[in-house]
Amino acid sequence: MNDKLLKLSETQCPVDELLRYVRSHRCLDCGKCVFGYEGAAQLELTLTDITMKKSRSTDLAQLTKVCRYMREQSLCDDGVELGDTALAVFEQYGDEFAAHVAKKGCKAGVCKSFVTYHILADRCVGCGDCVDECEDDAILGKKKFIHVIDQDECTQCGKCLSACEEDAIVKAGAVKPRCPAKPIPCKR
Ligand code: SF4
Ligand code: SF4
Repeated sequence: MNDKLLKLSETQCPVDELLRYVRSHRCLDCGKCVFGYEGAAQLELTLTDITMKKSRSTDLAQLTKVCRYMREQSLCDDGVELGDTALAVFEQYGDEFAAHVAKKGCKAGVCKSFVTYHILADRCVGCGDCVDECEDDAILGKKKFIHVIDQDECTQCGKCLSACEEDAIVKAGAVKPRCPAKPIPCKR
């Protein structure tokens, strides 16, 4: 059992951390037993889908079943350990896995597909510096107007974050800040 995965900080996403662990695990390179290798491959595939907002409602139940087989049927301790660890992570962080599967969000703001970028209206001075930084033309606005990020165009690259000297651009996970729908004149 990998105990480190059960002591994650608020800035670590359990889905992402488990996926990293699976990707570095010996079972993915071994192949001597079906339950160890196929189980690890299934874990990698499904966890990737979950982090990318492509999961299905049955994924967690299916992975739980796979991990129980891994724990009981793998030929060596590595497969047993991986199944056991994944089951413990599902149990400890069930709410966060469920939020990802329901496509509601990534609380830690780690999984890129769940992260959005926003411009806070009370901080933006309408300087326009961020517009030049965005290669996707996703930032709307003009001088002295509160700028707005078009979520349909934004590719979540994060380049605009460091462009704003007012710290008006923020990254959001499950909880999104309230922002104007379109550029409006600055009050500052
Ligand atoms: S978000 Fe920052 S960089 Fe962009 S216009 Fe507003 S103050 Fe300027
Ligand atoms: S995150 Fe990237 S794509 Fe989105 S608004 Fe900022 S610079 Fe543009």
